[in-house]
Amino acid sequence: MTAATPPWTTAAVALGSNLADPAAQVRGAFAELAALPDTRLVARSRLYRTRAVGPPQPDYVNAAALLQTRLDPDTLFDALLAIEAAHGRTRGERWGPRTLDLDLLVYGDAVIDTPRLTVPHPQLACRAFVLVPLAEVAAGLEV
Ligand code: ATP
Ligand code: CA
Ligand code: CA
Repeated sequence: MTAATPPWTTAAVALGSNLADPAAQVRGAFAELAALPDTRLVARSRLYRTRAVGPPQPDYVNAAALLQTRLDPDTLFDALLAIEAAHGRTRGERWGPRTLDLDLLVYGDAVIDTPRLTVPHPQLACRAFVLVPLAEVAAGLEV
């Protein structure tokens, strides 16, 4: 007896970068999201230049991706962290500059509150730099 195939779930990811050619970091991350196993990149937003929130630092490039995935939320989040790591992401001061940030905004209609993963992302509703790109790809969102 084999386990049932997991259903496809729609998920949205926020992308951000303000170091080491941010536009190239974000474009590369789109390609890596598209290459994830059991995952389809359904839509990618344009790239937006935004002012940094937090300590003084370079402007950001922000974008959003809409995925269809059969990965469970934890596995998808591990994959996002692995893509960040491949882009040399390090964590220093809070909201400090970064080569690549990938936040899981929504995962279907799931509500998740674990020590490492809160979904929907708690800051989603109050960040224009997340909402504007998300709105571009959100036509396929069913939440
Ligand atoms: P913010 O979370 O305010 O956007 P940030 O992206 O700069 O800030 P990070 O250092 O990337 O912060 O992540 C901080 C923590 O947020 C991580 O330990 C991660 O496990 C946790 N986290 C919780 N929920 C999510 C989520 N939905 N997407 C990404 N990270 C999350
Ligand atoms: Ca973030
Ligand atoms: Ca993050």
